[in-house]
Amino acid sequence: MAEIQLRGVTKIFDKSVRAVDDVNLTIEDQEFMVLLGPSGCGKTTIMRMIAGLEYPEAGRVVIGNRDVTDLPPRKRDIAMVFQSYAVFPHLKVFDNIGFGLKMQKASKAEIRQRVEEAAGLVELTPYLDRYSAQLSGGQRQRVAVARAIVMRPSVLLMDEPLSNLDALLRLNFRAELKRLVAELNTTTIYVTHDQVEAMSLGDRIAVMRQGRIIQCGTPMEVYEHPATEFVGGFLGSPPMNFLRGTLAREGADPVHVTIGGHHLPAPPALASRLNQEVLVGIRAENIEAAPAAERSGDAGLVARTVVVEPLGSHVLVTARVGDQLVKVMAGIDAPIRAEDDLWLQPAAPKLRWFDPASGQEIARASG
Ligand code: ATP
Repeated sequence: MAEIQLRGVTKIFDKSVRAVDDVNLTIEDQEFMVLLGPSGCGKTTIMRMIAGLEYPEAGRVVIGNRDVTDLPPRKRDIAMVFQSYAVFPHLKVFDNIGFGLKMQKASKAEIRQRVEEAAGLVELTPYLDRYSAQLSGGQRQRVAVARAIVMRPSVLLMDEPLSNLDALLRLNFRAELKRLVAELNTTTIYVTHDQVEAMSLGDRIAVMRQGRIIQCGTPMEVYEHPATEFVGGFLGSPPMNFLRGTLAREGADPVHVTIGGHHLPAPPALASRLNQEVLVGIRAENIEAAPAAERSGDAGLVARTVVVEPLGSHVLVTARVGDQLVKVMAGIDAPIRAEDDLWLQPAAPKLRWFDPASGQEIARASG
């Protein structure tokens, strides 16, 4: 049982840099939790506090009902894989993987059995007799992972373990890692600034900014319902569109938002903000685009195409609505060209509503 709890954890460097600011987070036993955020937001520092490599100024770290805040790293039953896979080049793969067990003075027979098992899991069995210097980057990274899992830790910490690999290797290894971790039954915390990696791997994602966790949820929750403009802009490629508009209502009609002279439906709860500005969030794949001549219905936006990018599986269209830009994903056969007039229909249940000043979500639609 290795549930991890961070209780009000704060880390301050050089008396003033609040690298981690009052973070509360529970990572369930055997959960795969991803810490996602831009460079410098405090991800690695959280990891290092869980590992016992940094001591928090405030708060407690609890692993499996045991307060480990004052325990040294070796007493925490954790293993780590870092970005720079510190694999010893002068040792063979077998000895690299078995290094920790040897330090623990495990018997030769036990080391052999466990190293072979770990090597099998990461598909390195044919390479056990090679020197690490003779391996590719991806293979070396697998050695680093095997060296961690051979210890059978109850907690596995991984800090950007794929960032040194090229794009294709990264894609393949990501899938391997996902399968592997599912087999291991450890509690895993994974640090990345790559939102695709976070979406692909995490049971849950904790999105961080400036030392704080802004939102924590399943990948789809965070993608579909970002709690703030920052989260919607950080996850997804392209990022969520944000359009400025004004809330209005004529007589007893439903509330709507006006953007560039056109209307989209708004949730009734926003009646309290009539005549105020809102930010309307909508993802590119949730907007239907058609030539303006084929316009249907009233709820939609008139736009002018700026750029059309064919991306193989779909076409990414950048269009202008008034003075604002919006990105739309269209099918590869969509009859859309640069400088075309378009009729855009965002799916009403997929509209998200944010306060333009704070960036916080202000009303939740049903979708
Ligand atoms: P990256 O993705 O770039 O690794 P990160 O989210 O992991 O970033 P941290 O490494 O946790 O961020 O750093 C958080 C903040 O704390 C940054 O402002 C960083 O400069 C600062 N920081 C980290 N370690 C130290 C240190 N040992 N001394 C002083 N400041 C530090």
